[in-house]
Amino acid sequence: MQSIYLDNAATTPLCEAAAKAMAPYMQAGSAAPFGNANSLHSVGRRAFSALEDARARVARALRAHRPDEIVFTACATESDNSAIVGMALGAHEKARLAGKHGPFNIVTSRIEHEAVLETQHMLRALGFEFRFVDNDASGRVTPDALARAIDENTLVVSVMAANNEVGTIQPTAELCRVAHEAGALFHVDAVQALGKVPISLKDWNVDAASFSAHKVGGPKGVGVLYLAAKTPYVAYMPGGGQEGGRRSGTQNVCGIVGAAAAIEFAVAEQPAYAQRARAMRDALYERLGAIKRVVPSVGVPAASEDFLPNIVNVCVRGFESQTLILQLDMRGICVSGGSACASGSLDPSHVLSALGVERALAQGELRVSIGVENTPDEIDAFYDAFVEAIS
Ligand code: PLP
Repeated sequence: MQSIYLDNAATTPLCEAAAKAMAPYMQAGSAAPFGNANSLHSVGRRAFSALEDARARVARALRAHRPDEIVFTACATESDNSAIVGMALGAHEKARLAGKHGPFNIVTSRIEHEAVLETQHMLRALGFEFRFVDNDASGRVTPDALARAIDENTLVVSVMAANNEVGTIQPTAELCRVAHEAGALFHVDAVQALGKVPISLKDWNVDAASFSAHKVGGPKGVGVLYLAAKTPYVAYMPGGGQEGGRRSGTQNVCGIVGAAAAIEFAVAEQPAYAQRARAMRDALYERLGAIKRVVPSVGVPAASEDFLPNIVNVCVRGFESQTLILQLDMRGICVSGGSACASGSLDPSHVLSALGVERALAQGELRVSIGVENTPDEIDAFYDAFVEAIS
């Protein structure tokens, strides 16, 4: 039985463009540059030139100001950690030199990915306060709420562009402006937004942003950290000084070349994919909404422009996510209950808790995330299997 894969927010299959770009690097004896991109000789220089070409293409696709603002990492978890902790340390040093003594704080939302939330332990150990900005029942963080949560001692604000579980899209440019007006740096986790909504780092005007190749048809193991020029930053991963001293470690040229191809493809395909996915999302929300025990997870109509076009998130009263996921898997359908990271745990997701969804209901969370290759027939097959599973 061939699976119908509807868990594209967890990860995506490799796209054709990325597979093609990486293929020569995977063949023993091929002419693709295997060198260390930091070596001075010609073999190294060829790898360097492939690396820099990938950097320029990623910068263009994300509409950064300059290629050297793009830092390659191993995953978005690393990008998130590096951005928040690295900028907190950089901004702290700058504030100290300016004669300020704090106590300094970092502000984020309660519905961030764990890759952001879990930095709180390290930040607290480093002496920073960790604070939350309120969200509404749809997960939205308003500029006014952010203005209330920050003060002159806020060093870094981190609010995601779009949520991975329920799909809430945040007003990134406005939130960034509020942070800057208060003198704070702004980081955006844009992992789920990439390829689903238009992205322009220039227009957002953020200081740092995180992306992950495997969420957009690229290989696993490649993340992107955007760091705007002159952003105060202390390298989170010090060492040999690669990536302009901002992220040491020999670069994974093959993976990075594949990531660049996938990101370019995702950005080029975004308008058509978003339109197709939105039509499938809205139709599925409508059909699921007609089932009595199914409750949409956000307190407003999630079939709107304020939510990612590819995510459907509902709670099924009287069911546990894991039971539903396994029931659907037996019928050849792959979905998740909240994020992949949280699956395996019986606790309701922190995102639904922050949205005010009652605990018993949140335990029946189900997320369908539509990928570039999914079709309306597959959504129909999901619906039929779902109805059968809950009957
Ligand atoms: N941020 C968000 C919003 C995500 O959805 C994910 C992955 O689920 C990550 C960060 C972490 O990405 P990676 O798997 O590349 O570490």
